[in-house]
Amino acid sequence: MIEISGLRKYARGEVVRLEADIIFTDMVSPYPEKTIYFEIDKAHGDMLADDSYDAFVLVPLFVAMYHKQDLHIRGNISKKLYQNIKWYVRKIFCDYSPDLSNVNFTVDGFTEPTKARGKIIGTGISCGVDSLSTIYDHFVNETDPDYRINALFYFNHDIHNYRKDSSGQMIFHKLCRKNRQAAADIGLPFYSLDTNLYPFNETIFKFRKDNWLSMSYINAYSCILSLGKGVFRYYTAGGSTYDQKKIFYTDYHDRDMAGFCDFYLVPLIQTERTELIIDGCQYRRVDKLKKIVDWDITKKYLDTCYENKSDGSNCGICGKCLRTLLALEIMGKLDDYADIFDIEQYKKISFANKIRCLKSYGEKPFETENVDFARENNFPMPTKRSCYVLNGKFMFVKD
Ligand SMILES: [Zn+2]
Repeated sequence: MIEISGLRKYARGEVVRLEADIIFTDMVSPYPEKTIYFEIDKAHGDMLADDSYDAFVLVPLFVAMYHKQDLHIRGNISKKLYQNIKWYVRKIFCDYSPDLSNVNFTVDGFTEPTKARGKIIGTGISCGVDSLSTIYDHFVNETDPDYRINALFYFNHDIHNYRKDSSGQMIFHKLCRKNRQAAADIGLPFYSLDTNLYPFNETIFKFRKDNWLSMSYINAYSCILSLGKGVFRYYTAGGSTYDQKKIFYTDYHDRDMAGFCDFYLVPLIQTERTELIIDGCQYRRVDKLKKIVDWDITKKYLDTCYENKSDGSNCGICGKCLRTLLALEIMGKLDDYADIFDIEQYKKISFANKIRCLKSYGEKPFETENVDFARENNFPMPTKRSCYVLNGKFMFVKD
């Protein structure tokens, strides 16, 4: 069995930490971390929910299901969250991966329902296409104060920014500075939250010998729930459309949990005081980019890159840069983004990238939508008649 216990909140210098113990009772824990914690600047420590284990359920459940261990929470959680996990979430996890098995999930009791809710309507800011699209719709264009975003968050929860060595901390703080500046230009307060959830992911990666895009999302949902005394509504930015999740189901299975099931999993990650909304599945990524392409914030801060270049710019040639730059090229907007993307590098491989997209049509969601986007805009893509392979390189025949 895995037990979660000892919930506490305390000050540590300039931050406040919410923490609980994770104890393996019937096997030796393979994880370096003996506790799970969430930390925020002490000025905002009152957001951390120290009256409920809600933030300490999802990752331990995933770990428990991976190791076929029952999970018990030695304390109270939201009754709504408990019911959703008991009846639905475990089944979704099992459907997602054959490495996850159903286990018993029990708690001591339930958090007292409270009428007092936080006042924050939040979303994350990474300056990627998905996050900027959500901010554009639900801050720039939203007028209803009950649904208009009033704060932006950045969590240190996944492989892209979590490192505990000094260089990793520098990357996290560099990204924080960039996103904090973007939030200031947008006109919203910015909060960063640190957590040690990623090492649990990393240990399972070693077992599986891959970078499983699964727990990263659960980490993010846990971070949101840790802020239960401040946040009452939170938009999580989805990356693919409802249709793509259905059409490319097998591509996402046991590889990318958000792609596989976020549109029906996220609505189950709720408590009586915090609502999560999955946003963005109503758009293709190219349509999100088209919507925000002329926004001055996008032109200054768009960050799609897997690489962390020292000057903070986008490399232009990683998978996410390529899919973004092809869409910008189709829209005739490449020059508008020359300051923040390495366009020269992109141009060297843009033709091969277009052929790769054509070859992946119908198999990969983002390549497929870029090809569709090109056709919709009468943008010339390579044809079988106009290209061939010579010495392993794609060659182009001009008509
Ligand atoms: Zn890149």
